[in-house]
Formats: sequence, C-alpha cells, structure tokens
Amino acid sequence: MKVLLADEYGFCFGVERAVEMVEESLEEGDTVRTLGPLIHNEQEMDRLGKFGVSTISEPVQIKRGETAVIRAHGVTPQVQKELEEKASKVVDATCPFVTRVQKLAARAAAENRHVVVVGNPDHPEMIGVKGYAPEHAFVIKDETEVAGLPRLTKPLVVSQTTIKAKTFYDTAEAIKSKTDDEVQIVNTICSATRDRQDAARALAGEVDAFYIIGGRHSSNSRKLLAVCQEQCPKSFLIETEEEINEADLVGVKQIGVTAGASTPEWLIKKVVAHLEQIGEKLENELPLN
Ligand code: SF4
Repeated sequence: MKVLLADEYGFCFGVERAVEMVEESLEEGDTVRTLGPLIHNEQEMDRLGKFGVSTISEPVQIKRGETAVIRAHGVTPQVQKELEEKASKVVDATCPFVTRVQKLAARAAAENRHVVVVGNPDHPEMIGVKGYAPEHAFVIKDETEVAGLPRLTKPLVVSQTTIKAKTFYDTAEAIKSKTDDEVQIVNTICSATRDRQDAARALAGEVDAFYIIGGRHSSNSRKLLAVCQEQCPKSFLIETEEEINEADLVGVKQIGVTAGASTPEWLIKKVVAHLEQIGEKLENELPLN
C-alpha cells in the first residue's frame, strides 16, 4: 500500500508565518496572548497552549507585561492601537496578502473614493479591512447585494483573500451599474486555497482512498473533502490518525493524503506514519496463495 501526498497541502504561507512569529516570541520568553484563536486547528492550539499561549477575545483583556499577537486575518487600526497601548509588545502576524488589501482600501479612502470589498462581512479579515476605510467601504457577499449599494464614486473593488474568482468577477462586473466613473478592479484573492484544491483533484483520480486532515469545522478542509469525493468515493475528513478505520483500507493499493491550510506538518506526518503502519499490517495478514 502506497501513501501519496498531494503536491500542495497543509499550512498556507500566512498561517505558517504566524505560527513561526509566535514561536519566536516564546523563545524570547514572552507571555503570548493571541487576539482570537491563532489558527483553526485544535491540536495545534493545544500544542501552543502547553507553551503558555492563550487566547483573548477583546483587546481590553491584555495586560502590561504581556505580548499581544495579531493573527493572519489582521485587525482594524483602532484595535491595533488599543493593543499597542495595553500590551508590552505587539506581534503583528497579519498575512502580507491581507495587508495589501488593507493598504489598497486605505489609499482609495484617502482619495475620497468608494471601496467595495467582495467577501463575508462577518469574517474577521473583512472587519479588519473595513476598519481601514470606515466611511468609504462596503463589504458585500456577491452580486445579489450590489442593488443595495448607493451610487459610487471612482470605486475600487477588491476581494476577501479566500473567495472564489467567479464570485469576485461577477460582482465586480455588476458594480459597474452603480457608477458613471471608471471602476478599478483589483483581484486580491490568495491562491493558497485553490492550489490545495487543484492538487487534491489531480491526485484523487489516482488513488483508492483519500484522507483529508483538517478541522471538522474548517471550511477549506470540508471543501477539500468535497473535491476528493468527486473522484474518490472513499474520501474521509479526519482530525487525527485515531479516526482512521482500518477496515476502510482493506484491498486499498494507493492512498492520497492532503490537509487544510491550518493543519500543522507534525500532525500530517503522524497520519502518514499511521497509514503506513496499517498498510504493513494488512500486507502481513494477506493469505498466502
Ligand atoms: S489563505 Fe492566503 S491570505 Fe489567508 S493567511 Fe493563508 S496565505 Fe494569507
């Protein structure tokens, strides 16, 4: 039995960078508190918790002497200022792809232009971006919400980093009906999600079973599961190696493995090692002809 990893899997650039920044801060002896969970992975949060990393939900909870960490989604300038006033140190782990959207929004607002961000208004990344252009920005989910926008002045259209390209471009096109000015369309979608899906799709047709390692509530992991299931009916979303059912692997020759953008490498290695062990065990149990 062979275990094959997809070409792209696991931590995206922004999440990996955020975890590394936290680890560096711990090495310096800081008491680290992250505003919101650093990543959506229970096992990794437990591991960091053992080194004293804890989570706060409001900037007011941070105390002098502590280090506040801004996670990859970013925050509003107001929240950043509050953290800087209260904490002894602030580690800004905002993903550079998100920083780009924040800067574009701030610049357009400074030029007195409207900004339309295509994304989920309740998502922390969107709340942060809107904070950079509070008087000028609108966050809408898709083209169905364009009708509710006012007339727009020299609008800039940008996107949440994780939305689908089709949603973005359809919405951007519809926005043209809301202005007599030129519409500036800047695609700020990050390719990490799509790259993981493309790699899983490419592998799914070649294997007899597929394991997607990721949080059950992680939307990018669930999407990976759906992509794999299209070609490989024996696809399973698991959080740890303990969820692998040996019976599912009887007669299986090739197993595909991928992982969501918040799944750490150490957890992926554990799953792969466990699958290889099961493979050896099943081979040894094969009847001799
Ligand atoms: S998904 Fe993309 S934008 Fe979001 S944290 Fe990862 S690399 Fe950054």
